Amino acid sequence: LTILGLESSCDDTAAAVVRQSGDNAPEILASIVHGQADLHAAFGGVVPEIAARAHAEKLDICVEEALTESGLSLNQIDAIAVTAGPGLIGGVLSGVMCAKGLATGLGIPLVGVNHLAGHALTPRLTDQVAFPYLMLLVSGGHCQFLITRGPQEFSRLGGTIDDAPGEAFDKTARLLGLSQPGGPAVQAAAEKGDAKRFRFPRPLLDRPGCDMSFSGLKTALLRARDAIITEKGGLTEQDRADLCAGFQEAVVAVLAEKTRRALAIYLEGRPLAPVLAVAGGVAANTAIRAELETVCAGLEVKFTAPPLALCTDNAAMIAYAGLERFRAGDSDDMTLMARPRWPLDKTAPALLGGGK
Ligand code: ATP
Ligand code: FE
Repeated sequence: LTILGLESSCDDTAAAVVRQSGDNAPEILASIVHGQADLHAAFGGVVPEIAARAHAEKLDICVEEALTESGLSLNQIDAIAVTAGPGLIGGVLSGVMCAKGLATGLGIPLVGVNHLAGHALTPRLTDQVAFPYLMLLVSGGHCQFLITRGPQEFSRLGGTIDDAPGEAFDKTARLLGLSQPGGPAVQAAAEKGDAKRFRFPRPLLDRPGCDMSFSGLKTALLRARDAIITEKGGLTEQDRADLCAGFQEAVVAVLAEKTRRALAIYLEGRPLAPVLAVAGGVAANTAIRAELETVCAGLEVKFTAPPLALCTDNAAMIAYAGLERFRAGDSDDMTLMARPRWPLDKTAPALLGGGK
């Protein structure tokens, strides 16, 4: 089974070809990602209108490049998978229209994919992880724990009630005049800092459950920064490093404690081979990874993180999630709709902002 996947829900346009024969390990035959960071840089965030236009222009190019890289022609593709949400509606629409055109033109099935399911199923693409596993999805736009039980079966245990951690890293970098994206810059500064100089809040740790909050952290950081500026007239390199170290330590502490709680719920179901998988751009953070590995080691849970290129937005995960859905006997027709919001867990209570 050979699937062409399309992704255009945020600021990356992507196409990929994934193949799986029988029960063999799936193979990524091609994965093309065209980022739009340069188009949005001047605006300090993704501009939906600009993103939608760029996706419409780039999708064809991505598909052509993916076919070239895979060495296949369109008539060797068995089905088209596409992100049908959640995301910026203009971009999602561009992808869905392109996919409908391809599927109709080729007379092959169309499979709509939830972008979050794409992230959540990636450990099966990279490591053939067996269901059920616990997934921590932690990126610029998301932060949630999901017990992944099947290709379309997820239980959401909790997540951020406001900002995602990646957003908090990016805002911290902005407040301290560091480069964007903020994650790598803050991590590098934190490595030279003293995490004990500032103690930032660890929100919601005093409350039961797996929900998290990261928006108060940047307010605390802003206050600490302004107090230094008022006292000394400016920030030294060391001040910046210490602020970053304190900030990162607070994020690590919150993620570690909430992961312990999510693991406790997951382990109650007595999975045969327990696994914690992380995905999303923030999973690149070495301090976060190290702490999660320690938490897992203590509980005899296997820790896994897909390679970074498959942790951030890409179309290989969409092709693969489509493949799993298709193999389960499910596909869509031309009534497939683009959805700006689409929670993975239909049983979850109404989500607050940031939870998507
Ligand atoms: P989403 O995929 O959820 O729609 P996104 O495209 O913003 O959102 P990703 O591309 O997965 O998210 O990840 C980007 C985020 O990861 C940015 O916020 C960036 O700062 C953060 N990030 C990258 N590297 C690191 C790091 N080493 N430490 C912390 N955060 C990091
Ligand atoms: Fe994503």
